[in-house]
Amino acid sequence: MTIRITPIRTGSVRIKTAQKQRKPGGTLRVLFDQKWTAWLPILAWLIEHPEGPIVVDTGETARTVESGYFPKWHPYYRWAVQMDVKPDEEIGPQLDKLGVQPDEVRTVVLTHLHTDHAGGLHHFPKSKIFVDGNEYHAAKGFAGKLQGYLPHRWPAWFDPIAISLAPRAFGPFARSFHLTKAGDVTVVPTPGHTPDHISVIVRIDGVAFFLAGDTSYTENLMVAQETDGVSPSPGLAQITLEKILAFARQRPLVYLPSHDPESANRLLSKQIVLESSELRGAASKIEV
Ligand SMILES: [Zn+2]
Repeated sequence: MTIRITPIRTGSVRIKTAQKQRKPGGTLRVLFDQKWTAWLPILAWLIEHPEGPIVVDTGETARTVESGYFPKWHPYYRWAVQMDVKPDEEIGPQLDKLGVQPDEVRTVVLTHLHTDHAGGLHHFPKSKIFVDGNEYHAAKGFAGKLQGYLPHRWPAWFDPIAISLAPRAFGPFARSFHLTKAGDVTVVPTPGHTPDHISVIVRIDGVAFFLAGDTSYTENLMVAQETDGVSPSPGLAQITLEKILAFARQRPLVYLPSHDPESANRLLSKQIVLESSELRGAASKIEV
């Protein structure tokens, strides 16, 4: 059995243009920006692997249409984000259609705990769920809510396994964690969008498929080394983007952020970062 990655689009999200790409004023600017992006996909990923199916992120839930699902007092939910998810777009029914029962999913790994990545958790009561331990800690309780996490929406049984990133370098990343015995599905730290955001790298036939979560909203923004408008530490986000680009220079890499409208096509056509001359031109202006 070969490894296969399938994108699962769990509906759509709209954010402000000042979130997609950081502008002067940063996070505050996001709230007052009048300009919305187009509707963007909310992607999760199924990795069919000889050791059992792995799901990366769980997408969003259709419950977001319920009044009061998002905290009305929170300025971000009030002014800066809109979701559109139909019940049959949730990850459970979509896995079903792909012939994979959610109960059969051995491992779920979350890049971070924002609602559009953790909203489908209720489909996986039987899976081992991996999250960075510090990310989980930061997202809990009222402090988590203030930062825009929705811990009160997690299933009552949610008790994730903390990923312990070993001090074992993987490309430019100083720490890593293998999710499979074969060592072909690897978690690396990609802090920035959240302080303990992680990404998942799947290696198939010499190509690294980089399931990037929200390290950037598009490949172009990563190549241009442009951070987003909501990262609590843009400096950290910048270093992460530098590492991803350095990694793409070391080996063939397909870059797959969760909200890039081109991610699914790039996966299908195995489009390698920096293969197009336009991207090479943009990246050559950047010192890494
Ligand atoms: Zn996020």
